Amino acid sequence: MSEKRKILIAGNWKMNGLSEMADEFCDQLLLNRSAIDDPHLDILICPPSTLLHRLYLKIKETNLFLGAQDCHFLSNGANTGDLSPEMLKDVGCQYVIVGHSERRISYSESDEIIQSKAEAAVRAGLIPIICVGETEQERSQGRTIDIVVKQVLGSIPERFDSKKIVIAYEPVWAIGTGEMPSIAEVQEVHSVIRRALQQESGDVNANKIQILYGGSVKPDNATGLMALPDIDGALVGGASLSASDFLTIAENSMK
Ligand code: PEP
Repeated sequence: MSEKRKILIAGNWKMNGLSEMADEFCDQLLLNRSAIDDPHLDILICPPSTLLHRLYLKIKETNLFLGAQDCHFLSNGANTGDLSPEMLKDVGCQYVIVGHSERRISYSESDEIIQSKAEAAVRAGLIPIICVGETEQERSQGRTIDIVVKQVLGSIPERFDSKKIVIAYEPVWAIGTGEMPSIAEVQEVHSVIRRALQQESGDVNANKIQILYGGSVKPDNATGLMALPDIDGALVGGASLSASDFLTIAENSMK
């Protein structure tokens, strides 16, 4: 029988948060240890880079995980403003998001660049959360599956250990809009992603890969999403800025 995958609830704060907010957020989250200490659930916070060290100090002795929102693919060099995965590891990160649609679109990041970042993250000992998802136009043209499979296969490391990468399916049109595909549509895309990964890497491997859903996840839709067989967690944007909403999403994911 295949091993049960853990649920991963990841919060992406994007370009939000100052020191006071970060401290209050952690203090509030840490009041509820039952979700944080649930052995079937991992909770990850991805703040802006300016808060990584502060959050690390706050959560280093807890079961919470720390992640960054992007990385360069080089270890070091003349890359003003960038951070390497080794630097993120050094500051205490365990995860890094790569290929978020906001970066694919605003910085023209291609699958090749994202693959290099994912490989660099793995090299540095970080777990990359590799984001994929179709735009509204691609969806209306009926191209969702083609686009998502192409992005997944083009963005994952050439060789990978399935416990060391995470995929996040995030329809671009569902991010920050309050709109979502139906639960059945999410399940269909996730199962297609898993099948594509199976063909790439062999059955056993693909069954272990966590595939998260992202796009307007809120406390009231988390339970329904997590009940689906191929959904192993959520990448949460807006709702991750409120400690109580984020915690409720985590708790509802386990119901
Ligand atoms: C995101 O930005 O990754 C995201 C899913 O945002 P939101 O939850 O606000 O839709």
